Amino acid sequence: MARITIDDVTKRFGEGDESIVAVDDVSLDIHDGEFMVFVGPSGSGKSTLMRIVAGLETQSEGDIHIGDTLVNQLGPRARDIAMVFQNYALYPNMTVEENMSFGLKMSTDLSEDEIERQVTEAAEMMGIGDLLDNRPGELSGGQQQRVALGRAIVRDPNVFLMDEPLSNLDAKLRAEMRTEINRLQNDLDVTTLYVTHDQTEAMTMGDRLVILNYGEIQQVGTPLECFYRPSNQFVAGFLGSPSMNFFDGTVEGGTLRADGFDFDLTDRMQTAVGDRTALTLGVRPEDISLHDEPTVGTEFEAVVDVVEPMGSISYVYLQASNQDHDQTFIVETDGQRPISEEQTVYVDIPADDVHLFDAGSGETIHQRQLGEEAEVALEERMQSVSQ
Ligand code: ADP
Ligand code: MG
Repeated sequence: MARITIDDVTKRFGEGDESIVAVDDVSLDIHDGEFMVFVGPSGSGKSTLMRIVAGLETQSEGDIHIGDTLVNQLGPRARDIAMVFQNYALYPNMTVEENMSFGLKMSTDLSEDEIERQVTEAAEMMGIGDLLDNRPGELSGGQQQRVALGRAIVRDPNVFLMDEPLSNLDAKLRAEMRTEINRLQNDLDVTTLYVTHDQTEAMTMGDRLVILNYGEIQQVGTPLECFYRPSNQFVAGFLGSPSMNFFDGTVEGGTLRADGFDFDLTDRMQTAVGDRTALTLGVRPEDISLHDEPTVGTEFEAVVDVVEPMGSISYVYLQASNQDHDQTFIVETDGQRPISEEQTVYVDIPADDVHLFDAGSGETIHQRQLGEEAEVALEERMQSVSQ
């Protein structure tokens, strides 16, 4: 087992004007045994960063340590890592057992019996013990992915690297494998880097997340910390589904004049805002409430555009009534609540749930409030993973 240290790593592809900065001055400390998720949109540099750790790609600048060893000059084989990718890369002409034992036969001098014992054990762990004599072509996608994982486990590496390993699976299987990889990583306690563009995978699997955009780290933190304390508008919009709603506005006195409504800034917000005039207000779909009649808290009137019933909840797409543009926003409501298209509703944005962002830089200038217990739990979790 090992910690991984990434110091000031930059990766450029190409030369001069044509060059692309895929990873931009990234520094990170991944703890021994930690499950660290690299998450971000396509092209944000996740795979490149992982491939640099693997030794499959060489960084233009910076250092990588695995444990206490500087590995910049070491090839992939010498780094004692095991990788699992989206395409399982199993050998089609070998049986499952041969696929799983191949690495051990090549890289160790273990006896045949010992290799067989270890392969059987890993296969049992992955629930594929009865498939050892089959060939990959005879297996479902889910089973093939289990073989790929089993092959990684059997090598007993210092570090697991997984790049979108579940993206070829259907939704149900993906959810199942998510839980399984979580359990496996807990049991084996091997330092794991996991790449995904899927925020649900990131939220549910990671001890911590590294959120990347354009090769730059946007935030590093526990899933809930990144969700409830996003460091900027990008993170706020990236985590959570449907995404946080954003309303641009200008400050006049203690009021934010947004497109279609005015929002009263609390004293605490006004202090945080200082002399800024251009702000973006952020509020999640699940935090906005809709009323059939005006209430004390009502910010504005809106018209229902589309209702998407999901079962226990519905997503309601709305448009503020006194608004010229086309800006819609989304509210999550109770699925049992009758609500219909073209209906007028009264929208309440609770001040406690509002984030404010600098309209220019996107930096967070005011975070939402949390309940006292939630706040304590969040802090404790942050402490426990930060040493
Ligand atoms: P992600 O895994 O987050 O989707 P990548 O790390 O694959 O992103 O890519 C980051 C950026 O680097 C992209 O702009 C991509 O086109 C570019 N890139 C990746 N690999 C190469 C390569 N071998 N040659 C040139 N550009 C590359
Ligand atoms: Mg990738």
